[in-house]
Amino acid sequence: MRFHSTRNAQLDLTSAQAITRGLAQDGGLFVPEAFPSLTARRIEELCSMDYPSRAAVVMGMFLEDFSAQELEEFTARAYGAQFDDPAVAPVRLIDRNTAVLELWHGPTSAFKDMALQMLPLLLTASMKKTGEQRRVCILTATSGDTGKAALEGFRNVPGTKIMVFYPKNGVSDVQALQMTSQEGDNVGVSAVTGNFDDAQSGVKAIFSDAAFREELDARGWFLSSANSINLGRLLPQVVYYVSAYCDMVTAGMIGMGAPVNFCVPTGNFGNILAGFYAKQMGLPIGKLICASNANDVLTDFIRTGTYDRNRPFFTTISPSMDILVSSNLERMLFHLSDGDDSFVRSCMDGLTATGRYTVPEHLMLRMRETFACGCCGEEDTKEQIAKIFRDHGCLIDTHTAVAYHVLEEYRTSTCDMTPSAVVSTASPYKFCGAVLEAIGGEARGSGVELIDRLAERSGAMVPAPLAALKGKRPRFTQCIEKQEMLEAVRRFIG
Ligand SMILES: *Cc1c(COP(=O)(O)O)cnc(C)c1O
Repeated sequence: MRFHSTRNAQLDLTSAQAITRGLAQDGGLFVPEAFPSLTARRIEELCSMDYPSRAAVVMGMFLEDFSAQELEEFTARAYGAQFDDPAVAPVRLIDRNTAVLELWHGPTSAFKDMALQMLPLLLTASMKKTGEQRRVCILTATSGDTGKAALEGFRNVPGTKIMVFYPKNGVSDVQALQMTSQEGDNVGVSAVTGNFDDAQSGVKAIFSDAAFREELDARGWFLSSANSINLGRLLPQVVYYVSAYCDMVTAGMIGMGAPVNFCVPTGNFGNILAGFYAKQMGLPIGKLICASNANDVLTDFIRTGTYDRNRPFFTTISPSMDILVSSNLERMLFHLSDGDDSFVRSCMDGLTATGRYTVPEHLMLRMRETFACGCCGEEDTKEQIAKIFRDHGCLIDTHTAVAYHVLEEYRTSTCDMTPSAVVSTASPYKFCGAVLEAIGGEARGSGVELIDRLAERSGAMVPAPLAALKGKRPRFTQCIEKQEMLEAVRRFIG
């Protein structure tokens, strides 16, 4: 399997090369040349395997320059005892045709762990395979969860350093303390004034600074990303769609071969894109429902065909989805247009120049064959948390609630009652204040103090790493302006 750039279909790389580079020099994202085929027979075989073995098989279909043994070893390490559920990504049945796919049982209690426990293993192995002698500095902008998960994944990994930038007022108290108290000798964390898009565009500017790249090269370093644009993050995410399907078959919720819908709380379009990859491989997925919060740029795009980032930015109680530029949509445009790189370039040029682009109707019709969409405001998010807690005794976080609400609206408006999984992307304890208020508690005090109060009120188990946050002191306290980010990286690499 070879990989192309979304902006240059002629570029032809191995998976190890694509993972090492992260982003193509032309600014494009790496995409597989084709989708491997997951037959019904294969899916049946996967049903009897544990999560690490499922992961090795599914990723192995893309990663031909990794041996099966190598992948088995990596997935056993990535999905081991640091997950507090032996199923790794358990499926919880809520009613006859609704399940919740819980992706937050890893070390940082958000779905980002599913990919970021794996990425450092893939990246360091890829560097060896490609003969890369330099050391790698991972740069990441985070809307909250990526940063911590990347720090935890790369902590003390030899030959790597990692620097994380988060928007000063764009993350929850728990998320901020998770990052600022990060341990490890090779880690750096800094707040940036502004919102997530400021932090992300600051990181992108550093990546495209040729002079800085040469400077680092001369010192034996290169930059890579842990953002969801890296192929090494996207492929591990394909696994849990397949795994969830197996679990729903095994639980008797669906028959083998019957379709399932997934409703995904979406920001950068990385998670749901992995679902699209699973569908392209042949996993029986009906609809992928793209759920947004008040930042509903994707809802508008799927409905109208125009992507337009010129709109107010809202800071919401589901901050990991507070995004106006969904980077992974670029991959979708490439696949949608059957690999038309000049079409992708013209869309991306439009986005840079005017903040908008329009996709022709025949392609949008194709998009809507797979993707449905919807958005959910703040009050509806809280009501959904209250309702699921009251009716099913299940405590969900704000992002999951957005998706759940959108699924219910989708069912009402379409009468499509296909068995569906709500993709649950974070532990409710990462967003204690909002969740506590939603179930009728009082959210006085800081996020970390609220953990106990939420536990008392809900009876839901607190993930151990979050319980351990109490009493931790921040180790990284700096807050900088966007234009100071490059200098901060220079100092950090030292
Ligand atoms: C990152 C994140 C999302 C959005 O996922 P994308 O891949 O960016 O679409 C949703 N929920 C939570 C909790 C997240 O951390």
